[in-house]
Amino acid sequence: LFCSIVAGRIPATIVDETETTLAFRDIAPVSPTHVLVIPKQHVASLDEAAAADPGIAADVISRCVHVAGLEGLSEGYRVVINNGDNGGQEVGHLHAHVLGGRAHSWPPG
Ligand code: 5GP
Repeated sequence: LFCSIVAGRIPATIVDETETTLAFRDIAPVSPTHVLVIPKQHVASLDEAAAADPGIAADVISRCVHVAGLEGLSEGYRVVINNGDNGGQEVGHLHAHVLGGRAHSWPPG
């Protein structure tokens, strides 16, 4: 699915792009700002990314910080990566959620 967004076959609202990452708005936002940051390279999960090259996750996370700046989230934000069934992962392509624009409670659901 997210490879199709990278390829432009499925439309998305792009907010940031580098040679290796893409950031676009979540289709079903749970916060006023809800952006997904993905590696363009297909890796299914955080587990798979860490096994292939820990730099992939570092690249994605550092781009999340850049996106938070672009989105003006100066009062704070949350970065979430769901991994596997118990983590609540639904899409099998590594993605980090950047959530902002409201307070986020802890613990998450
Ligand atoms: P997960 O539960 O895997 O961590 O999160 C998947 C996220 O992808 C969900 O927040 C969902 O709303 C979002 N999503 C699923 N399909 C699409 C799509 O086609 N386009 C966009 N922009 N987001 C999607």
